[in-house]
Amino acid sequence: MSVQQSSKSKVSVTPLDLESAKEPPLNTYKQKEPYTATILSVERLVGPKAPGETCHIVIDHGGNVPYWEGQSFGVIPPGENPKKPGAPHNVRLYSIASTRYGDNFDGRTGSLCVRRAVYYDPVTGKEDPSKNGVCSNFLCNAKPGDKIQLTGPSGKIMLLPEEDPNATHIMIATGTGVAPFRGYLRRMFMEDVPNYRFGGLAWLFLGVANSDSLLYDEEFTSYLKQYPDNFRYDKALSREQKNKSGGKMYVQDKIEEYSDEIFKLLDSGAHIYFCGLKGMMPGIQDTLKRVAEQRGESWEQKLSQLKKNKQWHVEVY
Ligand code: FAD
Repeated sequence: MSVQQSSKSKVSVTPLDLESAKEPPLNTYKQKEPYTATILSVERLVGPKAPGETCHIVIDHGGNVPYWEGQSFGVIPPGENPKKPGAPHNVRLYSIASTRYGDNFDGRTGSLCVRRAVYYDPVTGKEDPSKNGVCSNFLCNAKPGDKIQLTGPSGKIMLLPEEDPNATHIMIATGTGVAPFRGYLRRMFMEDVPNYRFGGLAWLFLGVANSDSLLYDEEFTSYLKQYPDNFRYDKALSREQKNKSGGKMYVQDKIEEYSDEIFKLLDSGAHIYFCGLKGMMPGIQDTLKRVAEQRGESWEQKLSQLKKNKQWHVEVY
């Protein structure tokens, strides 16, 4: 199936001025003068058997906080900073999970994918609400119409390189790290953007705990059906699947499974992106190093070449 044929089923968007800009917008709104936006919707993304809660939050910025895919918004939760009485809370960053057109395709919204940070007392094992995450709970508890203080957009590391519309993009996400990739994939496969007709390969590896924890699975599965030549989607469900040694299945195990293809794609110029919790990187780096050594290559040299070529993109938190 060619992209041209299937572009019929895409949503046509009226190109925003952002399409002709040479640089992404950066820090249009800062901590001292944030933009007051409005919550449009908050939707729980995960099923009942998921450990923890992750929500999809659509924010109406009225077209006043434009951004590019892969950037982040800052959110200042309401209330007082406990460390600085009288002062507002510090900004928390959240990767934007929509394209620049937003989920309503009109350039007026931005979406976030937020995991509610809950604190369990290590001794009693009980939840201690006084220590729950301030901003993630504010966002997951928000109601349509609530006001929200936004800063940003920020970040350039995860911008989607678009010079070559036929490039390969390998995306490795754990949990909410899928946010920027949802934005990329909507731009590639859902929106009909006149100046970006994607004809390359997008390959998403998503690591979560179990099937109930999958995020945006329906959306991604629909691209598989529509664009089988342009999209690949592999899931690592740590609590449901076993790796080849009988242990839990993590994204690095999936990377290892496809390492020959991944290394070949990287050698041909593919971009590789990592997003999610910081803890994901050591296991992934160890796997890549081991695979490189098995292939008789030096991982250090390869990594420095990938960085030099701007093929290596990491945003972990
Ligand atoms: P905070 O109130 O800041 O608390 C932090 C943690 O400390 C919580 O787990 C809390 O339970 C715990 N805690 C609180 N009090 C105590 C105590 N007394 N003792 C021990 N522990 C305590 N997150 C997402 O969900 N989605 C994203 O897309 C996303 N993107 C990000 C992008 C970037 C570039 C960065 C840097 C971060 C991103 N984050 C994202 C993380 C996000 O910015 C916040 O760090 C996260 O939501 C937690 O913030 P919070 O205000 O809820 O928790």
